[in-house]
Amino acid sequence: MANCMQVDLVILGGNVITVDSVKPRVQAIAVKFGKILAVGQDDELRPLIGTDTRVVDARGKTVIPGLNDAHCHVLSAGRSHFLVNCGPTVVKSIAEIKKAIAEKAKTTPKGKWIVGFGYDDTKMVENWYLNCNDLDEVTKEHPVWVCHVSGHMSTTNSVGLKIANLTKDTADPVGGRYGRDKATGELNGVIYETAQRQFARGDNPLIPHPKPEQDREAIKWVCKEAASIGLTSFTDAMVDTTMFQAYQAALAAGKLTIRTYLLLSIENLDDFIVAGLRTGLGNDMLRVGGIKIFADGAIAGRTAYLSEPYEGSTDDHGILAIAPDVLEERVMTAHKAGFQVGVHANGDATINMTLDAYEKALKAYPRENSRHRLEHGTVVNPEILGRLKRLGVVVLPFGSYIYYHGEKMKYYGAKRVSMMFAHRSFLDMGIPVGGSSDHTCVPWFPLAGIQSCVTRKSHTGEILGPEQRISPEEAIRIYTMGSAYTSFEEKIKGSIEVGKLADLVLLDKDPTKVDPDTIKDIPITATIIGGEFAYEK
Ligand SMILES: [Zn+2]
Repeated sequence: MANCMQVDLVILGGNVITVDSVKPRVQAIAVKFGKILAVGQDDELRPLIGTDTRVVDARGKTVIPGLNDAHCHVLSAGRSHFLVNCGPTVVKSIAEIKKAIAEKAKTTPKGKWIVGFGYDDTKMVENWYLNCNDLDEVTKEHPVWVCHVSGHMSTTNSVGLKIANLTKDTADPVGGRYGRDKATGELNGVIYETAQRQFARGDNPLIPHPKPEQDREAIKWVCKEAASIGLTSFTDAMVDTTMFQAYQAALAAGKLTIRTYLLLSIENLDDFIVAGLRTGLGNDMLRVGGIKIFADGAIAGRTAYLSEPYEGSTDDHGILAIAPDVLEERVMTAHKAGFQVGVHANGDATINMTLDAYEKALKAYPRENSRHRLEHGTVVNPEILGRLKRLGVVVLPFGSYIYYHGEKMKYYGAKRVSMMFAHRSFLDMGIPVGGSSDHTCVPWFPLAGIQSCVTRKSHTGEILGPEQRISPEEAIRIYTMGSAYTSFEEKIKGSIEVGKLADLVLLDKDPTKVDPDTIKDIPITATIIGGEFAYEK
């Protein structure tokens, strides 16, 4: 009979960074029933090894707590696996985008949508924005829809415009805009912000939602990919009812293998309240999180709503996506019902508006430990920092934005950049910070996020806002304990401590010791979730 005291897994000989200040570095970890049973030196843990224990000799390699991307778009990423990739890692020009779409058109029935994603105008060799004419040159037999990497605008062709009944006489919707030719006023196929909804969002969009079985496959694929880059938890930052069902189905079918926290769309808030859903419902694998509200645009799209105009402009402040009184009413309703709230706010003007809404809700219905979230919270200032601290708001700044999108910072100017993605300021003020990529708007390699926070250096070598640099230890803590705090889960994960979930990442090198410019290149040796190997090189 097997010794029932023996443990399931023991890792020995590791350079274990625990993110626990009591025992910051140890050699060994023992795991039983998916949780950490003991942490210490090799000699202390060896007696726990039994005949059925899996013993891993880490050979001095580094072990850290499982990484947690606390704001990304998981199911969108999974779905995109089945669409045309127009991202700069695959295509370098509009000509190449046209080629990729032409290829897809060959296997797509006439009249069916062709959807592309990841388009980044700033990384294309042509000096114009992808438009209706470009796409019409590829096909006039299929509607085409290409999303910008920011998610805040897209381009369609004339077939798409026709299906949506859009003409030069169509008025812009609230919080959105149709791109127009400056001379003629004709629509140029670029669709901004809320104007995208009729195509791609809501219950009955023109571009049909994926079928449930496609979503289950998408979730399975994306979990596998996440494990390979060291993620053991993530937050899907925008989940509608279809996606909510897909997650539950994937969990039941054993295809959801990464721990998932869901921010539910404000559009369905009333239904969620009636159904009795509340923040925290669920289990260690799938949990109902907060209510997600969009309040402004994107940094990459130059649509974040700023108090001072964009560089080189006197009147362009960006786009506000919601009226302040509507935001306040929705925040109040969600807060009163017991939900955590997560407002997407990039620009300083939008952030203040969001904090006004949180302040009013907390005053009307005081609640300890509400942990309302500021999604991105990109452009800040000392006044905003003080308000965040007072209101107990948690911030989810982009981790890897500087690295991947540094060239876009020219729209903001050096003064603003020194207070953007302000990790140093948040930590110094004691404001809780989670690690996040906002993938699919940005690649989601968490080690690239850690590197970017440490170096503030773009992929072209430019250093932006160095005063916001943090140490590798601080960046690891943000991507583990920091993220766990944003989902109220800091007592069950985020550090390597007895009793916590056995979510671990084995790294080939120590991120606190290597040249900071190479942190993103450290190979992931293994990813362990609940004591099971989810990825092994
Ligand atoms: Zn997002």
